[in-house]
Amino acid sequence: VQTVYPFGGSAAHDDPRQGDKTITGGKGANLAEMASIGLPVPPGFTITTEECVAYLQDGAEFSDALREAVTGAIGHIEKAVGKKFGDASDPMLVSVRSGARVSMPGMMDTVLNLGLNDATVEGLAATSGDERFAWDSYRRFIQMYSDVVLGLDHGLFEEALEICKEDNGYYADTELSAEEWKALVTEFKGIVEAEWGKPFPQDVTEQLWGAIRAVFDSWDSDRAKVYRRLNDIPGDWGTAVNVQAMVFGNMGDTSATGVAFTRDPATGERAYYGEYLINAQGEDVVAGIRTPQYLTKAAREAAGAKPLSMEEAMPDAYGELARVFDLLEGHYKDMQDIEFTVERGKLWMLQTRSGKRTAKAALKMAVDMEAEGLITQEEAVRRVDPMALDQLLHPTLDPEAERHVLGSGLPASPGAAAGKIVLDADTAEQWVARGEKVILVRVETSPEDIHGMHAAQGILTARGGMTSHAAVVARGMGRPCVSGASALSIDRASRTLRIGNHELKEGDEITLDGANGQIMLGIVPTVEPELAGDFGTLMVWADALRRMKVRTNAETPADCKMARQFGAEGIGLCRTEHMFFDAGRIKAVRQMILAEEDTARKAALDILLPEQRADFTAIFEVMAGLPCTIRLLDPPLHEFLPTQDADFEELSDVTGLGVDHLKRRAAELHEFNPMLGHRGCRLGITFPEIYEMQARAIFEAVCDVKASSGEAPLPEIMIPLVATRKELAILKALVDQVAKEVFAEMGTSVEYLVGTMIELPRAALMAGEIAKEGAFFSFGTNDLTQTTLGVSRDDSAKFLAPYVEKGIFARDPFVSLDVEGVGQLVELAAERGRVTRPNIKLGICGEHGGDPASIAFCEKVGLDYVSASPYRVPIARLAAAQATL
Ligand code: ADP
Ligand code: MG
Ligand code: MG
Repeated sequence: VQTVYPFGGSAAHDDPRQGDKTITGGKGANLAEMASIGLPVPPGFTITTEECVAYLQDGAEFSDALREAVTGAIGHIEKAVGKKFGDASDPMLVSVRSGARVSMPGMMDTVLNLGLNDATVEGLAATSGDERFAWDSYRRFIQMYSDVVLGLDHGLFEEALEICKEDNGYYADTELSAEEWKALVTEFKGIVEAEWGKPFPQDVTEQLWGAIRAVFDSWDSDRAKVYRRLNDIPGDWGTAVNVQAMVFGNMGDTSATGVAFTRDPATGERAYYGEYLINAQGEDVVAGIRTPQYLTKAAREAAGAKPLSMEEAMPDAYGELARVFDLLEGHYKDMQDIEFTVERGKLWMLQTRSGKRTAKAALKMAVDMEAEGLITQEEAVRRVDPMALDQLLHPTLDPEAERHVLGSGLPASPGAAAGKIVLDADTAEQWVARGEKVILVRVETSPEDIHGMHAAQGILTARGGMTSHAAVVARGMGRPCVSGASALSIDRASRTLRIGNHELKEGDEITLDGANGQIMLGIVPTVEPELAGDFGTLMVWADALRRMKVRTNAETPADCKMARQFGAEGIGLCRTEHMFFDAGRIKAVRQMILAEEDTARKAALDILLPEQRADFTAIFEVMAGLPCTIRLLDPPLHEFLPTQDADFEELSDVTGLGVDHLKRRAAELHEFNPMLGHRGCRLGITFPEIYEMQARAIFEAVCDVKASSGEAPLPEIMIPLVATRKELAILKALVDQVAKEVFAEMGTSVEYLVGTMIELPRAALMAGEIAKEGAFFSFGTNDLTQTTLGVSRDDSAKFLAPYVEKGIFARDPFVSLDVEGVGQLVELAAERGRVTRPNIKLGICGEHGGDPASIAFCEKVGLDYVSASPYRVPIARLAAAQATL
């Protein structure tokens, strides 16, 4: 196999390895490809990544094969340009460029103008007829080579140049004369000798191998290693090296260099976008020494800028560039990010790659390119990162608005929210009831804060990570959230808080940016998301491709409406406990669980029944005609227990029981490990009245909705935390009994299903048996992850981050399903369930239902649907479509 691949000139470009980025790197593969389709690419060659790996393994030795191949490839360039490397009368110069498989900051910077020395610089001056240009190039070469190859302090060279400019009263580098550059070259060589201990290398072959060595070595530099670790890039890829004939953008006013995008990477607009500089070389554009100019006349005029655009200043070269843009888009079928140089009016292409873009631009380009016939609908669907939609679906801060940033925390749930600070959930609810907008600010949140979180525009916490209660619940509700803002301290007594040095009080206005974690003073204006247009078009295509249905996790009519707007096709999880925590009802709930006799419990349940029925009626009205999975009460009783004296006194008043008595009863119900305690179906088994009441509320509500609207939803009653067939059998019988009673009482009947959540490893293993009772399984992967890993989600923040850093888990298993481990249980349960009941309905309702990687897994094991929080529904629709491609 070849170690070196020539490109441009008479090169063949016919070896498939040359087009393989893993062999020739991104830059090398694309240079060869551009040359092969006839674009003007300066000739050169690429040393393969394999040679880099071999060099690093062999203790920094070049193989003989490589030395020979490079000599031959230099000959290829010489032939193509008609000059000789190191020829004092007419020298060929090259650039040496690194180029890994993916673009990688931290790799060696490019060395330009290699091949210049005290003799060849004279030849360059003579053949170009431009002495100033030749000496400018030589000084650039010494500067770059000393910096990136010899590792000398570049500040010394910049300082010498600055002093020269100051002495002469110059502003720009372009003002220096040939004589002045010549003098500076002498000075630069002096610096090299003083710092490096040897004179600047004059032998061009030594220069070349020095640069190749520097590229190879830079693969193992600290900078590159850090970047690789942060971006999951394996250390054994190595980098390619590209050696390429120089073309000169610094040959006066008919020469230039620039960078461009074939479409606007911020908006996706089909307009060339970029910058260029006349009489300059590569690094000048980004170095910020001179202000780059606009590419197009339109962009220049829009910006009200004076210096001529490339379109105006060099119309011929610009016309050629525009032609190349179209060719490249037609060839790569994607927006390209390009580097080019114009030498005395002639355009040369130096790089192309698929350009990075914002979410908005990605969407627009995908839809536009389909309309242009460039790509298929399938490809358009594939192009857009589902997670990027997250940025687009929430109201976001007006980018033009001013921000007074007080501090920041973790971007726990996206979107922007503004309102008055409130310090507890009840206050939040009260203020919202009188028409205010509020931000709930807590040290951390707990299930008792749910009603306040719901009422608030956004949530800010001092503690907790990306999977804390606040973060998970906020994402579920689509509320923006900033969590773990360590600079935040709250003084409950004085109802004030501090963020860094800023003192604020309850009622003061703040704004949160859930996309970057910023906390801002005052109300920053927002802009609404655009759900029609390109977004709508792409979603239609995605829906046509996907097999799985997409439902939502929702428990309020408002969330259900929102989810349906986002395209939800049913409810995958309606939790009923949030309804129990509601401020007005918690008293009756407590009365119920602290009751010692059935009659007292029934009395409390009689208060709750009409309220639950009203909850369900409101939801079913929104979801008429669609399947709705409703989970009967699940959380540990423990969580409902009163803790404050005032709560006990209040309860004592309504129950007539003494405070001490109630406290004793509460103490009896206290649990050491509530997550594994008296919860889920265990509640239904021990307090059947609770589930009876809930089932009754559901059936009465469905019958009511059916009567009033003519269309009933399909209730799927879900029994949580089942481990055995028997549990489900008992509770299913109970639900069926209630259904029979209600249907008889109301003189009507509706279809319904009873099924279970699979969230315990035993349930997954026993799925074949459990399916004999249950008509559906919903994988509760939050609990299934907790119980399979033996990890408590609420306590995992402290060790999961280091676990992910050390690579023990590739990703947080509560964010992205542990497909290898927990996934086996899901797959096995699905299989065993289907054996017993071929038409069993299978879905997922954990947080994972909104995570693209987990959704791909659900498609693989053939689930019928995924369920995600309302704002994640579009993400799930797109991800479910991509999973089929
Ligand atoms: P990076 O990966 O940092 O962009 P490149 O290898 O692309 O580094 O080089 C940076 C710039 O150097 C290019 O955009 C181009 O302007 C200039 N350059 C590289 N090779 C040549 C060449 N053969 N002739 C002229 N300019 C070059
Ligand atoms: Mg580049
Ligand atoms: Mg659960």
